[in-house]
Amino acid sequence: MSANAEIQKVAENPFDSMMSRFDIAAKILNLDAGLYNVLKSPAKQVIVSLPVTMDDGRIEVFEGFRVVHNINLGPAKGGIRYSMDVHLDEVKALAAWMTWKCAVSNIPFGGGKGGIKCDPRSMSAGEVERLTRAYTRAMIDVFGPEKDIPAPDMGTGPREMAWLMDQYSKLVGYSSPAVVTGKPLVMGGSKGRVEATGRGVMVATRSAMLKMGLNPFKSTCAVQGFGNVGSISAKLIEQQGLKILAISDVTGGYYNPNGINVDEAIAYSKANKGQLDGFPGAEKITNEQLLELDVDVLVPAAMEDQITKHNAARIKAKLIVEGANGPVSASADDILHEKGIMVVPDILANAGGVTVSYFEWVQNRLGYFWTEERVNRRADRNMKESFEQVYQASLQHNCSMRIAAYVVAIDKVAQVTLLRGGI
Ligand code: NAD
Repeated sequence: MSANAEIQKVAENPFDSMMSRFDIAAKILNLDAGLYNVLKSPAKQVIVSLPVTMDDGRIEVFEGFRVVHNINLGPAKGGIRYSMDVHLDEVKALAAWMTWKCAVSNIPFGGGKGGIKCDPRSMSAGEVERLTRAYTRAMIDVFGPEKDIPAPDMGTGPREMAWLMDQYSKLVGYSSPAVVTGKPLVMGGSKGRVEATGRGVMVATRSAMLKMGLNPFKSTCAVQGFGNVGSISAKLIEQQGLKILAISDVTGGYYNPNGINVDEAIAYSKANKGQLDGFPGAEKITNEQLLELDVDVLVPAAMEDQITKHNAARIKAKLIVEGANGPVSASADDILHEKGIMVVPDILANAGGVTVSYFEWVQNRLGYFWTEERVNRRADRNMKESFEQVYQASLQHNCSMRIAAYVVAIDKVAQVTLLRGGI
């Protein structure tokens, strides 16, 4: 019986999905029960109340979170999410996810995640700024370039990171760009960061195709999601010679058996408020149909839980590269594995973003900035090496690439935990 077949409890929640894979990997590693509990438990959980004066003079109190899951490999790294759905359990799971993502990508960071329960779209820029500054003040003992380095996530971007960096710097009394990544380029962001995740997806796709003996010039691809990750993945994969037969976004799927011109689609979407609705030269299909197309490579780059036990049996792609976080649920893992489909898992495939965030932090600490060419070259090399490491582990343990990625990550954090000792 394969390790994947051992999933007893089918979980559709992406975080439960992650933990069920963690359990399989821990079993393969024969992880000591005590160590298992250490690795599962977050190192630090902070909840703060953030009073903010709103534009109309009312004082509103927001709830803010930061969870540091593990810092054995280095300072915690992870985004800050502004959403009404933020709650402690989600932040805890996302922080653990970052630990495994950094470990499998050979980045010397631990895992962290933060969030504020708020609806940023209903707030003015001034209100979001005051909230971001209040959060930074409340987290002054948590954040730090050597301790915990936040980044953007859902509902936050370079603007919020600039405010966070400014507030932190004012409180410590000197300029501290390395306290946060994802900053605007002009104030210490890294070249190549915007394209980094899509670029990593392309490199992971190429690495997997090489192992599978798939010729890029004779292969086809479909990409779900056309935001930062999806559009850049599609463009770079097309540049590798593959024909992009379909793309999609929240408005639906767009299919052309002769190939979509991705540059034209990007220009169209840009001119159309970021949406593909009405994109000419392609037949309209649904997002569900896109996933089941007869293509060689499928890149789900929109959101979680897109391939589940309900549609996994109908997937025809030979290779799935997870641009999004959690697009394949745990219940689909076995079905895909048994069909012989290779899945390059999210914690490996979309780690190009956190890799270049790490490069941003390195450049900030050096006070010396790299060319885009250097950033890309180093990021590409890192992805190729991480892929190879996971591929070898999958052969060694006769398991899927997903379980192998968890095996590599958990083994590394476990080894370092024991070497550091002090337990
Ligand atoms: P984005 O907001 O830029 O784009 C999301 C895209 O998905 C949009 O085109 C949107 O229209 C589409 N979409 C939304 N709902 C959809 C649906 N129901 N069906 C089909 N498409 C739908 O987001 P992004 O930054 O590209 O992130 C996409 C995924 O990649 C997320 O899971 C994110 O967590 C993950 N990710 C992003 C990065 C990064 O650097 N941006 C890094 C790692 C992982």
